[in-house]
Amino acid sequence: MKKVIVIGAGLAGAECAFQLAKCGVQVDLVDIKPKEMTPAHSNKNFAELVCSNSLKNDTLEFATGLLKAELRELDSFVLRCADETKFQGGTTLTVDREKFSLLVTQKLKEQQNINIIQKEVESFDLNEPVIVCAGPLCTPKLSNFIQSITGESLYFYDAVAPIVSADSIDYDYTFFQDKNGDVTQDYVNCVLEKDEFYDFWKELVNAERVKLKEFENEKNFEACLPIEKIAMRGAETLLCGPLKPFGLSKKGKKPFAVVQLRKENAMCDSYNLVGFQTNLTFPEQRRVFGMIPALRHAEWLRLGVMHRNTYINAPKYLNHYFQLKTHQNIMFAGQISGVEGYTESIASGLMCGINMTRYLQNKPLIDFGIETCLGALGNFLEAGNPNNFQPMHINWALLKPINLPKNERNKALVKRSLNKIAELKEMI
Ligand SMILES: Cc1cc2nc3c(=O)[nH]c(=O)nc-3n(C[C@H](O)[C@H](O)[C@H](O)COP(=O)(O)OP(=O)(O)OC[C@H]3O[C@@H](n4cnc5c(N)ncnc54)[C@H](O)[C@@H]3O)c2cc1C
Repeated sequence: MKKVIVIGAGLAGAECAFQLAKCGVQVDLVDIKPKEMTPAHSNKNFAELVCSNSLKNDTLEFATGLLKAELRELDSFVLRCADETKFQGGTTLTVDREKFSLLVTQKLKEQQNINIIQKEVESFDLNEPVIVCAGPLCTPKLSNFIQSITGESLYFYDAVAPIVSADSIDYDYTFFQDKNGDVTQDYVNCVLEKDEFYDFWKELVNAERVKLKEFENEKNFEACLPIEKIAMRGAETLLCGPLKPFGLSKKGKKPFAVVQLRKENAMCDSYNLVGFQTNLTFPEQRRVFGMIPALRHAEWLRLGVMHRNTYINAPKYLNHYFQLKTHQNIMFAGQISGVEGYTESIASGLMCGINMTRYLQNKPLIDFGIETCLGALGNFLEAGNPNNFQPMHINWALLKPINLPKNERNKALVKRSLNKIAELKEMI
């Protein structure tokens, strides 16, 4: 059987390489790391979580929880590593990002069928089996090569939130609580009184932002808007968004506004500012975010940055198996394929790993079907609108509908999906 080249050892590439290797396929897993890094990557290990350390909800009440259940059922390697490095408790799958990436990297290095190569891929042979998992920050040379195949490339902007050290927070202006009202070290709530909030808001909307050079058309991704952009829509938008004190109370009193910090690792020695993705210049981040009373003396371990995200116009160029329509030996997985999110990237990597193996074995490819979250992702890529295509998180609306009242519907969707996955598992 032919060797497969997997470009990028991020969330999708790590999963994909593992699935191929597990089935006896030889893999060249090529990543530019650690000699060089994309603008958002800084960890020498693979499967780096570039922003939040949360893989979102892990209950069957949400489609993202069902997607995780499907992945576990199909023996997802990356999700297993997440489960092994997660923080206990809570309904979200939140991991220690350092331990998670280290574990993924160690396990990949142990695989006999995986040959890890450190270099930047600039182009590839269109006649060889290749899975492109170079992510939303795919290097410009490879982006240009892909553009030469498809004739066009798309992009939008996305942003990373800052991180502070725990011992630099002034806890006199905070309280520990999650949004269910439970006291926990996982979340530190930084209180702003009314005057403090409005002073902060005024400075935030007027602060200096990084000038975008490469592209004139800034396209913000609505689900991950920079905090200053949200603030520009009005103080109330901020109060109803990231600074909303909903569900929180300090000594029985609801604060006027709250900046929530979420723990970064099991030791609780650092916290990230929830919803504070930003494009402010570094000095302005220190100045403006330093107006939050609890963060007046903050030590900033990482400041927010904003990046180009690259993805292919999937409805035009890919089928629901993530294959390039013109070259079925070429697949795209992860964010560059047009799925959005950590878990979705892992999911596309798993499907490509399974189906590339079958393609090489001349077996029919597995159609995961729109009854499952996995299949719904592939279908979204194929059936989306090529004139206005934007990556999308998994959600119930992507699955084949079931005509039942909402309270019964989700349970029925879960049952139908897991039955289908059980059937497919027999075939894989
Ligand atoms: C700034 C930013 C913040 C994000 N925050 C979140 C978040 O909080 N939650 C969420 O669910 N999703 C988030 N996303 C979206 C997405 O889920 C993540 O980017 C996710 O890591 C995508 O997985 P991936 O495997 O497609 O790419 P990545 O995990 O980025 O992996 C791509 C790999 O390819 C390598 N590479 C790139 N170009 C080349 C090349 N030419 N040759 C060789 N190797 C190459 C890179 O070094 C990297 O290791 C964010 C995206 C960005 C850009």
